[in-house]
Amino acid sequence: MAVRISDMFSLTRYGRRRKALLQPFPDAWRTLLASSLVHWGLLDDDERTRLEDLVRVFLVDKKWQAARDFDLTEDIRVLISAMACLLILGLDDGYYDTVRWIEVHPTTVVRTGLRGTGVPGVVSDSPLPILGEASFDGPVIIAWDAAVANARHPERGHNVVYHEFAHKLDMGDRLVDGTPRFEDADTRQRWIEVCTVEFESLRRGEAGPLLDPYGAVNPAEFFAVVTEIFFDRPLDLQHAKPDLYGVLQSFYRQDPAARERARG
Ligand SMILES: [Zn+2]
Repeated sequence: MAVRISDMFSLTRYGRRRKALLQPFPDAWRTLLASSLVHWGLLDDDERTRLEDLVRVFLVDKKWQAARDFDLTEDIRVLISAMACLLILGLDDGYYDTVRWIEVHPTTVVRTGLRGTGVPGVVSDSPLPILGEASFDGPVIIAWDAAVANARHPERGHNVVYHEFAHKLDMGDRLVDGTPRFEDADTRQRWIEVCTVEFESLRRGEAGPLLDPYGAVNPAEFFAVVTEIFFDRPLDLQHAKPDLYGVLQSFYRQDPAARERARG
């Protein structure tokens, strides 16, 4: 029987992933992550082993591109991969199938030209500085100086890698609507109910100081912003908004607050 082109692609990809997993996770990467990513120190042994597997596959599975004249080192790729893969620690590997390549810039990128603003029907042509960007078919763009600072300072509640990769998870069902792909309808329904209440509260300016008002732009930005807080300040989120924490926990299948209580 003839092998279809798509099968050949899958076999190549499978082989690449398998080969990556046969290589041991270098000690130098562990040292790097232990010193650069605060969340790494909160994981237990099983979680770290799972994250190491995800990182090795992610590194070879995705294309990496540097902005002009930027030295995109292995350390940079490893740290970005670890933060991206932390989000899918409890999910199936396939959640990042839509991520094709990552483009890394040394610092803020300034967008020019006419573009959408995230608010339906509103466009703008003023220069827009961005730390990251995610789209359906384009690269995930990351500003390295922001990413490395975010990894070391979760207490600030911002992480450009969590933010942009949350957008990619949102796009997993081909809709950018703040609701990612769920396995069962009840969990999805609970997600929609809780997130709608919290999103409306943020839009009215009544959500309190924890959530960045940028999350009020639209439901997709809301999901990205609350993902940052879920991983960066889980105890604060669980205390201030237990329902929101609960639905995020049900999607990510992780409990970062318990992790902080145990080892923080
Ligand atoms: Zn965003």
